[in-house]
Order: sequence, then structure tokens, then C-alpha cells
Amino acid sequence: MQIRLENLTKNYGKTTAVNDLSVTIEDGHLVSLLGPSGCGKTTVLNMLSGIVPVTSGHIYFDGKDITQMPPEKRNVGLVFQNYSLYPHMTVLENICFPLEIKKIPKKQRIERAKVLADMVRISDLLERRPSELSGGQQQRVAIARALAKEPSILLLDEPLSNLDAKLRVEMREEILRIQRRSQVTTVFVTHDQEEASSISDEMVLLNHGVLQQQGSPRSTYDDPANYFVVDFLGSPPVNKITGQVRDGAFVTEDGALRLALTSLGRGLLRREISGSETFPAVLAIRAESILVPAAQAAISATSVAQATQATPSISAKVSNRYTIGRDELSVLEIGGQTVRAFVSAEYPLADGQDLQISLKKRGVFVFAVESGERLV
Ligand code: ATP
Repeated sequence: MQIRLENLTKNYGKTTAVNDLSVTIEDGHLVSLLGPSGCGKTTVLNMLSGIVPVTSGHIYFDGKDITQMPPEKRNVGLVFQNYSLYPHMTVLENICFPLEIKKIPKKQRIERAKVLADMVRISDLLERRPSELSGGQQQRVAIARALAKEPSILLLDEPLSNLDAKLRVEMREEILRIQRRSQVTTVFVTHDQEEASSISDEMVLLNHGVLQQQGSPRSTYDDPANYFVVDFLGSPPVNKITGQVRDGAFVTEDGALRLALTSLGRGLLRREISGSETFPAVLAIRAESILVPAAQAAISATSVAQATQATPSISAKVSNRYTIGRDELSVLEIGGQTVRAFVSAEYPLADGQDLQISLKKRGVFVFAVESGERLV
């Protein structure tokens, strides 16, 4: 089922929870609604299920306007953060319940419930009650129950937030596997960018109820639409050097760092910037986009080609270092500001070392501070 939101708006009194949102989710896709707390994710989900009426705009399922359709007619499967299983029923009874409502004969109900239990790998738990299950097992039962009535779309609202870190990773892989098997169009709400990136075909990023960007995890990371997106995605968070755009260059306050805009990132300006334009700006650099000399010495021929296309060299000083698994994260001072750079653990830097670095084309952007507009 394809889902299309057209100019969707929801006001709660003076609060605009969702503001003129237009998004299309293709049939069979798993799409994350992603953004900080209060950005309107749950409100979008609740409008899709019909629990919350829309203020204006339209929702289409496969081209049919369902904006005013009551929830029970939308054929939507819902899974909430707290699972909401019926405590007095066994796992089998929980999964069968939506089928009972639909008046499916008992024998068929049980057959279908067993197929679903097998899909979510809980076949050996059918006689237990929810209180006798782990969080991850309850989660699987909730998904099986939501899938029982063969929903046209599956809506998952922060379904993993009650699980511990390891189980979260396991369960998100499970959800992806179940979604791929069932092929049901799925909307997954989360505020965790890593979770969204690892599970979705596409991410819909919201801030203050306004769409910031829709795209694959790769395209939103590599080609962020604005400052909000670059800052929201990525771990460690993107490095930010504050300064100004002046005379067609990015310049730090003290003038210690000056880089022509056309030498940064892909070198393509997103709009014309006249020589006389001066305004506050941020140079955003991914930690993996800083080339340090030790690593430069060890890189392959292709990387050398990339390196030669990077910015002119920039003076830096190592102020600190951390080990993050396979890599080292070195803290560098550039033009009086701090950035973090991934450095191969085989060629570590020394504290206090002075060095010349350069920036890759990939993962380097410039934004206007006031509007968040991307310039490079
Ligand atoms: P979280 O990640 O914290 O769950 P969210 O992104 O899902 O947040 P929503 O729950 O959709 O955000 O809320 C969006 C905005 O609408 C918030 O400012 C919230 O305070 C407001 N809001 C949500 N529900 C109501 C309501 N029933 N009445 C008034 N305001 C509401």
C-alpha cells in the first residue's frame, strides 16, 4: 500500500504539531519518521491510524483519500512502545484476538497465529502469558498480533525503546527481517538516528513539525539538505567550525582559517554568493573527512587521488586522543576551534603534535547560521 500525505497539518490549540507535511511512502517500504522529542512524529503516526483527526490536508492510501475514514476501517496494524498485550491472555490468544474480532473461525485463527508465531520466532512460547516473557519476546508477540489481521500498513511507535542496548540491535534486525518477509508498508517512529539509519529504506526527518529531508540513510548523510540534518545525523556528531562567509570564502572570526568556498566539499555553490555578501556561517566536517598525515602516508592509490583533490593544507595541533574500537578519535585544534578526526589506530598521533591536515570533498559542508541553508 502506498501512503501519501498532502499538506498535512495538525494544530493543538496554538501548538502546530505537524506543519504542511507532504511525503510519499512507497508500497512495501520501511520508512522511519525521525526527529527530536516533540517534533511531531507520534502525531503523524496517530493521524495515519486515524486516532487523531487532521486539522487540514489529506492522507491517501493507494491514491484513495482516507482522511475522514474511521480508524477501524483503515486496516492499520499498530505497535506501541509499551506493547499493550492483554495480560490475562496467553501468547496464542493475544495473537488470535484481532482475528476473533474479525469473526474468523477458530481453526483458521489458530493456523494463522501459528504461522505468525513462527515468523517472529516465538512458536515455543504460545501457552505463556505476557508476564512470563522477556521484553524482546513481548515485542515479537506485539508485532505478530499487529500482523495477524493482515494490515495494509504497519505503524511502529518507538517499539524498541524499552529494550536494553544489545536487544535493541537484535530486535531492529528482527523487525527488518519480518518486514521483508511480510512486505507490509511500515512506518517506524524513532528519535534514534542510528536505529533509523540501520533499519530504513528511507528516513523522513522532522523538526518542529516541518519536513527537513526525505531520503535514504546514505543520501541524507552524504547530502544533507540543511544544518538541522547534518547536525542530527552521524556519530560522533559532525564537527562544527564557526565563522563567516566573506569575499567568497569561509573565514574564522580571528582570520586564522580562510578557505575559498569553491575549495570546500564538492566545490559547488548551491546558490550564487556575491563577493560583498558577509554573514555568519558554519563549516561542518565529518570526523572521517579529515585527512591527517600519518594516515595519508598509508593510504592506497585511490585515496591519494581523493586526497589530492581535497582542500589545501590546514595547520592543526593534537590536543587529545580516544580509542573507539578499531579507530582512534583524535581531538585537533584548528584555528582556535576543536574538531574530532578518525585516525587509523596503526598510525596514531601524539598529544601536542603539530601537523598539516586537509579536508576531503566528501562530508564537508558550509551552512548559513541564521537560516540553516546549505551553501556548499
Ligand atoms: P516524542 O519523541 O517525545 O514522543 P514526538 O516527535 O512524537 O515526540 P508529538 O508527540 O507528535 O512529538 O508532539 C508534537 C507536539 O504536539 C509537541 O509539542 C506536543 O507537546 C504537542 N502535542 C502532542 N499531543 C498533544 C495533545 N493531545 N494536546 C496538545 N498538544 C499536544
